[in-house]
Amino acid sequence: MDSAKRVRVEAWLQYGDDLGLGPYFTNRASQTAFISAAAIFESAPSVEMAAAPKSQPATRIAPTSPAAASKPAPSLAIPVAPGPSLFEVVERVPDETLDDIRADLGECTRCRLHKTRNKIVFGVGNSKAELVFVGEGPGHDEDVQGEPFVGRAGKLLTQMIEAMSLRREDVYICNVVKCRPPENRLPEKDEIATCSPFLLRQLAAIEPKVICCLGACAAQTMLATTQGISKFRGEWFDFRGSKLIATYHPAYLLRNPPAKSEVWKDLQKVMAVLGLQPKKR
Ligand code: SF4
Repeated sequence: MDSAKRVRVEAWLQYGDDLGLGPYFTNRASQTAFISAAAIFESAPSVEMAAAPKSQPATRIAPTSPAAASKPAPSLAIPVAPGPSLFEVVERVPDETLDDIRADLGECTRCRLHKTRNKIVFGVGNSKAELVFVGEGPGHDEDVQGEPFVGRAGKLLTQMIEAMSLRREDVYICNVVKCRPPENRLPEKDEIATCSPFLLRQLAAIEPKVICCLGACAAQTMLATTQGISKFRGEWFDFRGSKLIATYHPAYLLRNPPAKSEVWKDLQKVMAVLGLQPKKR
């Protein structure tokens, strides 16, 4: 190494020493220990969901398992302050309103679903709702009317909302995709990836206390998991400052009425968080 390079390297090492980072630069053994501690931390079994991508962080609210609790806590060299990820920040536009988001969406042709839709179904309800319901996508009636949950499943959702002592206009209702998939098929991954950023912006604008996902598509999209909804239905998750819970879709309840009692249990949990009493008959 020539002397000029040596001087620069020595200056960097001195700088690291001054910051207390000397071993980080010079001792490979301590660097290996740091990596293995981080690996233990990442593999701790307290969170069982598939890891959510940084763009959609969601964490299950659950006690740490006894096995995990008995493990010595890994010491991380540099604690990271909690805060939104870089990706999350990109998706958020400060102070944007639902009208701004609708205007940005425009007569959207961003994915193939635009070819067969009749009307875009953006969302409906209270722009400052404490409770947001998120469904999968518009069906036939919704596509015709441009409003979410207006068919038979929608009527059942309205009954569910009223049983919680709320009116439909008190809450906000929207879907993962805003155009009807042909023949009511499930939205494809790329369609969800294209459309769901608008949903995330809607949720950021509303800032609800509770997000209730209706059905597997909404729940799996929001939690970035491929697990079946029955594995985590009725559990609470943190989602960007809101509490998130998943329950069965009203369309499923029309086909399987006995599941209504499970959904009612989930809605009672939501009511407890929102301080609501069941509607008196
Ligand atoms: Fe645009 Fe969403 Fe409709 Fe696709 S589903 S065309 S992204 S509004």
